[in-house]
Amino acid sequence: MRWSKSLRWVGPACGRLSRRHPLAAKPFVAFSAAILLASTLLLYSSPEEKHISIYSNAANYSLPVLDRDGDEYIGLLELFEPLGAVSAKANGNHWKFRYYDVESEFAAGQTRARVHGSDFDLPANFLLENGRGLVPMSCLGTLMPRILGGPVTFNQNSRRLFVGNVAVHFTAQVSKTTPPKLVVNFSAPVNPMIATEPGQLRMAFNHEAVVAPGSQALTFDSKIIPSASFQENNGSAALVVSATVPLMATFANNGRTVVIEPVPQVAAQVQSPPAVPRPPNSFAPPLVAGAPTARRYFAVVDPSHGGEERGASLSAQLAEKDVTLAFGRRLRQELETRGLATLLLRDSDSTLSLDQRASLTNSAHATIYICLHAASEGEGVRVYTALVPTDTESRGPFLSWDAGQAGFQLLSQSAGSGLVAELQYKQIRARSLITPLRPLNNITTAALAVEVSPPADDISEINSATYQQFIASAIAAGLANIRDKLEARP
Ligand SMILES: [Zn+2]
Repeated sequence: MRWSKSLRWVGPACGRLSRRHPLAAKPFVAFSAAILLASTLLLYSSPEEKHISIYSNAANYSLPVLDRDGDEYIGLLELFEPLGAVSAKANGNHWKFRYYDVESEFAAGQTRARVHGSDFDLPANFLLENGRGLVPMSCLGTLMPRILGGPVTFNQNSRRLFVGNVAVHFTAQVSKTTPPKLVVNFSAPVNPMIATEPGQLRMAFNHEAVVAPGSQALTFDSKIIPSASFQENNGSAALVVSATVPLMATFANNGRTVVIEPVPQVAAQVQSPPAVPRPPNSFAPPLVAGAPTARRYFAVVDPSHGGEERGASLSAQLAEKDVTLAFGRRLRQELETRGLATLLLRDSDSTLSLDQRASLTNSAHATIYICLHAASEGEGVRVYTALVPTDTESRGPFLSWDAGQAGFQLLSQSAGSGLVAELQYKQIRARSLITPLRPLNNITTAALAVEVSPPADDISEINSATYQQFIASAIAAGLANIRDKLEARP
């Protein structure tokens, strides 16, 4: 089964292919397995499609909304399936639906139905399409409680439906510190998708039942972070924070707190370099020669996938591993022509584990690590930085392998925003995102994952020399611009 673009994956698109894909983020300790499971149940369609999200103790999920003669319809069986035992049977014009022991009967082309022994009037005709029963979406707020035997809150405008008492509430306050921090506390752990653009940071809640505080618009007594707004639309919610400076987000309190603060000046960061961590299952020592503390390379470029591991199938002929290799070679060339010594981690169709990639990178003592991915969907370039689980942070002199990146998150986010700014300046669509992603978590220097999509909808363009050269040159220029900042750290 193709997971399809309908399944939302926060991270490079190749991660959608398989939950066992080596890039799939390791279970994020801060967030419970239940949340990870819920997120995999969540179905999303392309942005222009209408969908409804359902939040319940059993599952959080989204379903497509169908337009039929100007009315919005939902498949009743699909709606109840994640909530419990269901069955349905079509008999001529009649459709019998069963949820546990609650029976309902509908008739095609009619508004009158029987639900749990009582008459029920639909606001528009019931539809039967190839044995699939469809009800008007606007009746869900009254129909579902009859069948479920419990309360349902349906926000029809945003198409978000809450079964029982599942809403996640939050408070948001800006501290009086310098620089100010916006601290957002949630009543349950959240794992939003975070995107930054000039002037704002957007936290999208695609599978959490987050609801608005008293008012949709929040204002703060801060010149730097003056306001935020809570937006709900098409089965999703987002908190959009406005600011006069670039912002970054970190998680705390097991995912119940998100702290948003200005991206610091890289040069101002003072931290002693931590010991180079080793992977849990150590393999042959790193192969990179040279004095361990000397920075031989400015950049390590890592073409993701390779060998037996093909990555995403970008088209029938095109494997991601070949595109990342071709692109990696061009990027190395672009960096070296700017005088930036570059180590290409894989210069052939070879297989490397994520631990090997991280270990080789860490022993190269480069200034920045860039791993490359390619995707058939989307447009332009997405730049990811690692979200490091807070509760595996190292204590004392020993650095946990999974939190190798912890001391470098600010540096990486700063490098990521610098790179995105340069790409945007070159008129390339670019976004920065934060996600738990290996091997970024294990890297002990500034680390970015760069995912390149074709310029428009023409997937063959992603392998064209002109396009790759254009993007590689822009990335190299962006990295050259921030070189001084990156190297200013002790
Ligand atoms: Zn990939």
